[in-house]
Amino acid sequence: MTEENIPAGDVLQLFLNTLYVISETDKDLDLIYCIFRIRLLAILGFLPQVAKCVNCETPMLEEMEKFYFSVKDDGVKCEPCSRLDKSVIELSKTTFSALIYILSCDSKKLFSFEIPERDLQELKLLCKIYTNQKLDKEYDIQKFNI
Ligand SMILES: [Zn+2]
Repeated sequence: MTEENIPAGDVLQLFLNTLYVISETDKDLDLIYCIFRIRLLAILGFLPQVAKCVNCETPMLEEMEKFYFSVKDDGVKCEPCSRLDKSVIELSKTTFSALIYILSCDSKKLFSFEIPERDLQELKLLCKIYTNQKLDKEYDIQKFNI
């Protein structure tokens, strides 16, 4: 993910924080891995648009119950626009809030949240499809289920 001999302090800090959380807490490993991958992409400059529809710019509102993330177009879509996009992943309000948190929170608080199992499954699916597409490689999340 990084170039040799080019300082990457943010990535190193994320890596060390992630190792710390793995070794010192009993936090769910799948959740840790999702947070790490999404935040890593954000640090590397892959920031999806989450405030408004990437197609028609309809703002996303807090009271919405469902959100639609377009892997193809790098961001969230409103419901009508999402119907025309086969790459859309449907997200609950909780999963969408977790995504925004991972992308924007203070690095010291990155791992300080939990989400219900159902939302974790959504986050894992989003993480796998989105990060594999951005990194142009297949990384199997199951390998980390030790
Ligand atoms: Zn739209």
